[in-house]
Amino acid sequence: MRTIQAKTILSSVKQGADTWFGIRYNMNLYRGCQHGCIYCDSRSNCYQLGDLSDIRMKDNALQLLEKELRSKRERGTIGFGSMNDPYMPAEKEYELTRNALKLAYRYKFPVHIITKSNLVIRDIDLLKEISKVYAAISLTITTCIDELSIQIEPGAPVSSIRFDAVKQLADAGIYTGITLMPVLPFITDAKENIRDIVIKAKQCGASYIIAAMGTTQREGQREHYYDQLDKRFPGLTPKYEQRYGNQYQCDTPNSDELWTVFKNVCSQLSMPIRMKFYKPIENRQLTLF
Ligand code: SF4
Repeated sequence: MRTIQAKTILSSVKQGADTWFGIRYNMNLYRGCQHGCIYCDSRSNCYQLGDLSDIRMKDNALQLLEKELRSKRERGTIGFGSMNDPYMPAEKEYELTRNALKLAYRYKFPVHIITKSNLVIRDIDLLKEISKVYAAISLTITTCIDELSIQIEPGAPVSSIRFDAVKQLADAGIYTGITLMPVLPFITDAKENIRDIVIKAKQCGASYIIAAMGTTQREGQREHYYDQLDKRFPGLTPKYEQRYGNQYQCDTPNSDELWTVFKNVCSQLSMPIRMKFYKPIENRQLTLF
């Protein structure tokens, strides 16, 4: 594991700009990600992260975080996991995420974590405490079939393990949901897959499910993805090239139909398709009156 020094650790997100998770500050404690998802957007050239599989730990991350939290006048949700997974295998040993959660707890900051790993279960004790302010955990699940999750997310725990993590978190009273994204054209875009994920989410006690019926592709990300398609799903690259060219937004060919299935099942099961965001105490009191 290489270490690097960061100049800052929290980056501000414009108020209201994150309509999915309500994040106000973004944070990446590592560089690179061991989960190796074939579609990962962090490989895009625009981020200049280098080789995604070269994991670097931000050596001074916790000192910076404490300093920055102390100086923040506005308590907004800290997002863990935008450019990497905060619970990738390295976290087991290095505990940057756990120690950052301790700081969030100490300074009473709300958190949102997005992950594909059941390692998050380790921190249930802390998450329960932070929940008194606000904590939300989103497990990303893109397929109900474990063998397929190994193909597209080779370094992450399989889908059934993630569903089990959802159940354990929900049973512990932590606000937990599912991010059903991306949906990969010609791979995970079967109606049954979307329906089964929602049903399983409900059975596991998820409080919300947020979906996007497609994927994105940018320079750097696209080349790796096509290379992996050739290895794992021969014959699909020409279909992508023909349909999407150099497009950024790549909706599945049947996205309208998938949205209908998704919304119908969610409605039948009373499953929210949006999550509740953190509200500062003064806003909560206003709502009360
Ligand atoms: S877990 Fe997220 S950041 Fe890590 S490789 Fe997968 S998509 Fe990329």
